[in-house]
Amino acid sequence: MKMLEIKNLHAKIEGKEILRGINLTVNEGEVHAIMGPNGAGKSTLSNVLTGREGYEITQGEVIYKGENLLELEPEERARRGVFLAFQYPVEIPGVSNIYLLKAALNAVRKHQGLDELDAIDFLTLVRSKMQLVKMDEQFLHRSVNEGFSGGEKKGVNALRSPERSFVMITHYQRLLDYIVPDFVHVLSEGRIVKSGDKELAKELEKSGYSWVHDAPEPEGQPA
Ligand code: ADP
Ligand code: MG
Repeated sequence: MKMLEIKNLHAKIEGKEILRGINLTVNEGEVHAIMGPNGAGKSTLSNVLTGREGYEITQGEVIYKGENLLELEPEERARRGVFLAFQYPVEIPGVSNIYLLKAALNAVRKHQGLDELDAIDFLTLVRSKMQLVKMDEQFLHRSVNEGFSGGEKKGVNALRSPERSFVMITHYQRLLDYIVPDFVHVLSEGRIVKSGDKELAKELEKSGYSWVHDAPEPEGQPA
């Protein structure tokens, strides 16, 4: 089944066309990585998909699980599971993880027409999920993102399943050593200029992006 379909997506910011015809289909269970040099449009694509304001979609469409994603408000997209996660998380002192997670889960449950979980049921659920990704329960009572390295990447692999898809938009090459993608796409000047399998990521590691007429990127910087 098709999870996400991006068709001929064009987007402008401040009158300048940044995305110039993106096409991408993601089926259930697939892991895609979208990479590319600085200025290629990676952040713009992430922002447009999640609904950040300031962008004008001039052409194309995005279908997510059969719905027109671009017609939804950012919070409506988030409740369907489409939202930006921080690569370098911001700390929120005074708000505990368990409080934030419960509020977030209940917002999604409400959207799905399910009853909200009370504190006890939520604790049971969150404990089982923490065991799944082998996280220490002390994290629940820490403040949001306090003491996180941004390196909680192996958690993603534990969640891979035939129904779940991932699109990683990154210029952080080494991420793909931890989370091995099925498909790798190279974005340049607002278009996908090359697609391949995980070997393409390895080629890029060696040769950089010079072949797309741009300089290689430094590693380890936020996308
Ligand atoms: P990447 O994340 O791949 O480095 P971006 O999506 O950040 O690329 O940027 C793509 C292009 O859009 C760049 O040429 C950048 O200068 C331009 N751009 C990004 N944001 C803005 C903005 N707010 N106003 C004008 N141009 C922008
Ligand atoms: Mg960027």
